[in-house]
Amino acid sequence: MKGKTHAALTLATIDIYMEITTKTSIFDNLSNENVYFLGGIVLGSTFPDVDLAWNRNIQIQDRSIFQHRGITHTPIFLLGMIFLWLAYSFINPTFESESYYAILYPCFKGFILGNLFHILQDCLTKLGGPLFFPFVNINKKVSLSEMKSCGLVDFAIFCVCFAFLIFEIYQSKGFIVNNYFNGIQANIETIKTLINFWY
Ligand SMILES: [Zn+2]
Repeated sequence: MKGKTHAALTLATIDIYMEITTKTSIFDNLSNENVYFLGGIVLGSTFPDVDLAWNRNIQIQDRSIFQHRGITHTPIFLLGMIFLWLAYSFINPTFESESYYAILYPCFKGFILGNLFHILQDCLTKLGGPLFFPFVNINKKVSLSEMKSCGLVDFAIFCVCFAFLIFEIYQSKGFIVNNYFNGIQANIETIKTLINFWY
């Protein structure tokens, strides 16, 4: 799957889950924390494919853990990152009171969640994902369909999810453009009141 498909499908899935469980959209709450969380989701859901970049630039043995859909596509990699985070918090007790923690923590949570969704989504394609590494060889991938990455189905999924997200943003309470139009309307009202007052 393309990066944009991963990002759109991940946001749409989490949004539908929230709509069902809490009847709110991920775009309803535009607090700083939630915006960092959403940013983290987008980063995390596109991150695992960095392995494509290093596979293009360096000669990597085909069946090593650094192949495409290798180590960055395993749940154990996520556990490793969580472990590092916890270890760092343990070594550095002032971590949570640092000014950047309020940005980093929601971003990290979103990153892990987005990354996990990327791995699961790759398992829906023909090439699959190494879901059970290191218990199973990294070349034994879980693949649930014959869908090809970057094909027509990939593009269709992106279009549907993207359209859905635009609809959800438009529907959400925190809709920025809505506020912007309300702002213009308020200004027009003020001008009208002034005109009425003067004439
Ligand atoms: Zn991938």
